[in-house]
Amino acid sequence: MPAAAQAFPDGEAWSIAIHGGAGTIERENITPEKDAEIRAALSKALDAGFRILRDGGSSMDAITATIMILEDDPNFNAGKGAVFTWDKTNELDSSIMDGSDLSAGAAAGINGTKNPILLARAVKDNSPHVMLSGAGANQFSREQGLEQVTADYYATPRRLEQIDAVLAKEISAADVDYKFGTVGAVAMDKNGNMAAGTSTGGMTGKRWGRIGDSPIIGAGTYADDRSCAISATGAGEYFIRLGVAHEICARIRMRWPIAIEEAQLTVPKDADGNYTYIIHASEFMLPDAEIQQIADDVIAELGELGGDGGIIYATPWGQAGYSYNTPGMYRGRATSEGEKSVGIYGDED
Ligand code: ASP
Repeated sequence: MPAAAQAFPDGEAWSIAIHGGAGTIERENITPEKDAEIRAALSKALDAGFRILRDGGSSMDAITATIMILEDDPNFNAGKGAVFTWDKTNELDSSIMDGSDLSAGAAAGINGTKNPILLARAVKDNSPHVMLSGAGANQFSREQGLEQVTADYYATPRRLEQIDAVLAKEISAADVDYKFGTVGAVAMDKNGNMAAGTSTGGMTGKRWGRIGDSPIIGAGTYADDRSCAISATGAGEYFIRLGVAHEICARIRMRWPIAIEEAQLTVPKDADGNYTYIIHASEFMLPDAEIQQIADDVIAELGELGGDGGIIYATPWGQAGYSYNTPGMYRGRATSEGEKSVGIYGDED
């Protein structure tokens, strides 16, 4: 059997990766208390998904539970703690995708829903559409019986300070040096099903109904059991232009059959010139380094366009990881192989 086939995970494999935003996250900007708070929040969210996957639950349930915890935490720019628009309102975006059937749901420019990821999921499960926006999406949320909150629920003192600074200087959101704080999760469950979800308040000071990549299937979120699950965070305009989430999945999906052919060429032949072993697709996984390279290549292209940010990935072969071009990224991952970690800065694993 060729080397590439040996590490193929058994039917019990699962994996999850989460993020709480990427940006100018450096040690000198974060107090030890804040550092500990963020790590505890990421661990709590990761644990929720970890338990569901370990106990045989679905990737869809795992990412939903994880994202809800991050939405409820005011440290992140999603749900409570969402950033303010130019008009000092909150307009939240979310999306979710099921890699087993490519079903997807998204909500853009919404408010009133306590957990926007639940609205994305309701759009996916209970409407004939993929994306709803604004007042109509809010109405759908109420009709679905999702928990509603008043406008002041999302507001935190820190986000008010940030919008006041933006408005005082009359600078646009794109000029603000701030930590992104979007949240997201991707996972593979024991059935090999992939799921991805993303939730955000968008960018501080956004206006004119600006929508970023987070609710756009293919840009900020994508999941396909044949390739990967991706959730992105960063300067949304660039992620939309590159179609980052779908681009990474498409490259993995197309690389895989070529990698099988290449591996087959390394198998010895018998006296008759026939391969002594035929590699079957079901036993072949793309190596960790190839997955990382594909993700890094797309993030490098994002950087060349001028975009900052990063992504988390999970693959059908049990890998879970990150790629980002910012100094840091709030992140975490866990796998059935025993890996479990959270990180903040670029110099930790
Ligand atoms: N990607 C989000 C947006 O552009 C922002 C973020 O990730 O922080 O709306």
